[in-house]
Amino acid sequence: MKTFLHVQALTKEYGKEKAVNQVTFSLYKNTATALIGPNGAGKTTTLSILAGLLKQTSGSVVIDGDIQGDIRSEIGFLPQYPQFYSWLTALEFIEMVAKLSGIDGKMIKSQSVRTLDFVGLADAKNKKVGTFSGGMKQRLGLAQAIVHKPGLLLLDEPVSALDPMGRREVLNLLKELQEHTTILYSTHILNDAEEMTDQLLFLRKGELVEQGSLKEVRDKYANPQYRILFA
Ligand code: ATP
Repeated sequence: MKTFLHVQALTKEYGKEKAVNQVTFSLYKNTATALIGPNGAGKTTTLSILAGLLKQTSGSVVIDGDIQGDIRSEIGFLPQYPQFYSWLTALEFIEMVAKLSGIDGKMIKSQSVRTLDFVGLADAKNKKVGTFSGGMKQRLGLAQAIVHKPGLLLLDEPVSALDPMGRREVLNLLKELQEHTTILYSTHILNDAEEMTDQLLFLRKGELVEQGSLKEVRDKYANPQYRILFA
């Protein structure tokens, strides 16, 4: 498997507290990795650093051979609580993001429409975002993260706020995206990870306490002991 991203000894300190502490892992091209851990484990901090929104205290991030530099165009990011402009329509919003992402002007409309179609918002594209349900907003958040066809997709708790049906639908979309995208997503629910994951990374109190394939982790922590990681 080809390494797409390598994180080495990543550390983020807030005063004396280490939100992320010496975390090292690799993501492999066009695979999905789940970053799992309880509240405060350091998931959002890790994703924010990878997305270029936060600067690490120490450690390195190499993406597709480039040391973390101007690689924004290669990254799509869905924050845990995405913010939208409620007065725009879904299409206007995605077109704005597409423009900011540097998509060729001639392609903006068609690419935005195609992306909204992909996330299941074709019928709602001319509705104002302010009228959207939580589930629709989550799909719109996914659309803004993928409209520029990033090679790396970072998703902070993409399904935590969804009902079971919405969860399944979004996980299915991620499975499709995984065919040509490297995905790292956070969750605190092991069942979500079991749905579609090549690799699991368990964070606790900022430290990477376990990593491996679902099978490796399962074998190591025969049920139900491995759930102790969430204690
Ligand atoms: P959750 O599941 O609750 O979203 P998380 O795994 O995403 O949690 P982080 O949000 O990364 O965890 O937080 C990791 C630790 O860093 C926590 O102890 C948090 O309080 C601390 N932290 C995060 N941001 C800051 C900040 N700006 N200043 C100080 N401490 C912070």
